This record gives sequence, C-alpha cells and structure tokens, in this order.
Amino acid sequence: MIYIGNHLSASKGYLAMGKAAVALGADTFAFFTRNPRGGKAKEIEPSDVEAFLEFAQEHHFGPLVAHAPYTMNLCSDKEDIRRFARDMFADDLQRMEYTPGNYYNFHPGSHVGQGVDVGIPVIIDVLNECLSPTQTTVVLLETMAGKGSEIGRSFEEIRRILDGVTLQDKIGVCLDTCHIWDGGYDVVGDIDGVLETFDRVIGLDRLYAVHLNDSMNVQGSHKDRHQKIGQGEIGAEGLRRVVAHPLLQGKPFILETPNDDAGYAAEIAQIRSWMI
Ligand code: FE
Ligand code: FE
Ligand code: ZN
Repeated sequence: MIYIGNHLSASKGYLAMGKAAVALGADTFAFFTRNPRGGKAKEIEPSDVEAFLEFAQEHHFGPLVAHAPYTMNLCSDKEDIRRFARDMFADDLQRMEYTPGNYYNFHPGSHVGQGVDVGIPVIIDVLNECLSPTQTTVVLLETMAGKGSEIGRSFEEIRRILDGVTLQDKIGVCLDTCHIWDGGYDVVGDIDGVLETFDRVIGLDRLYAVHLNDSMNVQGSHKDRHQKIGQGEIGAEGLRRVVAHPLLQGKPFILETPNDDAGYAAEIAQIRSWMI
C-alpha cells in the first residue's frame, strides 16, 4: 500500500485542499507553501488548520508533501537572492509546524555556473542554519533532472548534501520518477537496479516520498518535462512497477502530471488498481 495524491491549489486553505483530495480519491497531496514564484506567503488560519487536521485523521491521510517555491535558489551566485531564499526557507519551516509531522520538499538549487563544489557547501550551510531539533517536519531534497546547473542530478550529489547536515533525522529525499529518468537512471528497464543504486549511494531509509510522473523525453535527456501517467517515455508498465515495488510501500506518492481534476481522478484510480 502507498498513499496517493496530486498537487493541489492552496488558495482556499487546508480544509479545502483536504476535501479536494478526497473528492479525487486521494489520501495525501502536495501544495506550494507560497506562490510558486516566491514572495509573501498567505496568512495561516488556525481554525482552518484545526478543521483540516481533524478531517485528515478521519480520512486516514498519509504524510503531506509540501513543495517549496521552485524559484527558491539557496545557492545562487547573488547574495540578495540567497538571503531571500534562506528567509523563505526558514519561514516555510515555521509554517509547516502548523501541520506537524509532514514533509517539506525543495529543489536543492542551481549553482548557476559556480560549480557543484561551490553550490553544495552553501546549501548545507543553509540547512544547518535553519533546521531545528524541535521541528516535526522532515525536509526533503528532490532528485533533479540535471537541467541547466541544477544540483541533485545524481544520487551522489544528493548524498554529498545529506552528509553535511547535522540533524540527520530532519533531512531526507523525495524521488521524482521523471527527474531520475531524465537524469539517466533506467526506471523502465531496471527499477530494481535503480533502487539498489539508491540504497548503496543514499540509503533507502532516507527516502520519504515519491513524485510519480511520466516524462516527455528519453532517458538521460536532462529536460524535466512531465507527462501524464502512461503517455510518456516511461509508460504505464514502468510506473506500475514503481507503484508496486516492495521497497517503496507505505510512502506518499505525488502526481505532478499535466492534468485537470478529471485527469487526476482517473490517474489516482489507475494507480489504486496497481497497488499491492
Ligand atoms: Fe519539484
Ligand atoms: Fe517533482
Ligand atoms: Zn519536474
């Protein structure tokens, strides 16, 4: 059994997201903690959060997988952008505590030409500055497709970030199927081997969540264009083997496919039929 859901709009608050998820057949979901392009976050309503927490318990929700703004670059070459990103990151972690025990997923960052060896220590510094021993949220590094100067394009790069973090129980990994396929890992032909490599390099105990996406592009393309489940280069059978993989059970799976509500409901139903 896995938890399954998709990315939802946060504009109407937590309870509205919970209800939208249930209407689609989901038992988890993802949402942007603020406008995906960054900026000021919406005020959190304590009564909305309270109603949501009760609703989520009633409906046996799994952990939520919040997503940081995708423009947040902790290792930019510009100091003002780095500071802005770090402030957003710290603020988001405080906001996450309104809904305790969930996950906060972020793109490690783009080194914008400075090189991985410059970028990785900067990301580590922010993590060590912002993570707190009392937080209940686990922060997740997302595996990236390696578009442009993205850091996290290989399991080794993710490992290097993890290794630098002091509070090991507050940091983990979110595996994006489209990204690792685009990054060169053979999700279709050898998912066992991919997970074996993940376990050797990172450790499967560090894997908390999966982004389940098909890809518009071929293996190793480094493009990062998501496709609907079964309509891309990974295909339905490849994604079914991910959903049904014994080593991935019990985790929240999030769809970030280009869909409307009806499309998501259909994908969630299809994925439920693949569950073991
Ligand atoms: Fe992402
Ligand atoms: Fe993703
Ligand atoms: Zn992506």
